[in-house]
Amino acid sequence: MRWGSGAGSGDVEDRRGIGGGGMKIGCGGLLVLGVLSLLFRQDLITPFIGGGGLSTAPGGDDPARKAVEEPLERTSRNSFGDLQDYWAQNVSGYRKSTLVLFWDMVRSGCGAAESQTGPFYCPADEKVYIDLGFYKDLKNRFGAPGDFAQAYVIAHEVGHHVQKLTGTEAKVRAAQQRAPQLANQLSVRMELQADCYAGVWGHSANQRGILEPGEVEEGLTAAAAIGDDRIQKMSGRAARVESFTHGSSAQRVAWFKRGFTTGKPEACDTFDTR
Ligand SMILES: [Zn+2]
Repeated sequence: MRWGSGAGSGDVEDRRGIGGGGMKIGCGGLLVLGVLSLLFRQDLITPFIGGGGLSTAPGGDDPARKAVEEPLERTSRNSFGDLQDYWAQNVSGYRKSTLVLFWDMVRSGCGAAESQTGPFYCPADEKVYIDLGFYKDLKNRFGAPGDFAQAYVIAHEVGHHVQKLTGTEAKVRAAQQRAPQLANQLSVRMELQADCYAGVWGHSANQRGILEPGEVEEGLTAAAAIGDDRIQKMSGRAARVESFTHGSSAQRVAWFKRGFTTGKPEACDTFDTR
């Protein structure tokens, strides 16, 4: 991808190296935990300061790991910034989201999460969470390298932010409560719409000359790679349609394409299944 000189996003919270995602405890707290540990003869401190233990640098910072992630961080910041500019122009009353970078574990407005969960959007605090290590997985396990594939992942999560702002997320949640038997089907529709929104942004990025030849295919590979059927097969299980929450690879590719070719958010009517 080719970014202009003004690219990049300041709306990033870098929580890498902060064990447990910003769960900082002061000296007083440590002292109390120390005393309690002695009383109960077990280590109560380590779980509070992350897996690193006391021997690591304050906050568990790891400059080497950050250096390896530098190109991934750049692509993430650039695409996140561009996505927000795009949606601010296309959704009235747009509120900015924040991209939270973390390692291993994070505390979000939606509870604690581990990297294994993959990147996610939390509607409660309107933030996007990603452990950049996910991109290594995307490349090694799912065969989807390239920076547009990475941007697609961010674009999908920002798509969920758009659903929060437009009220779609609240409507879906209410419908799921009314009809629990449809809950999964409704989440699939919501996921496919986020894919379509990612495509809509891709259309704009392409028109503005940000995409390089061959990068659209990259996005499609990423969409196909993270379909639920692929993920389930990769983890050694046979794909079962009723447990899908993101949609099949074919569905995801189809909706991404729909967004990409039309460039219109209105075309992402994934809930209309006629
Ligand atoms: Zn999603």
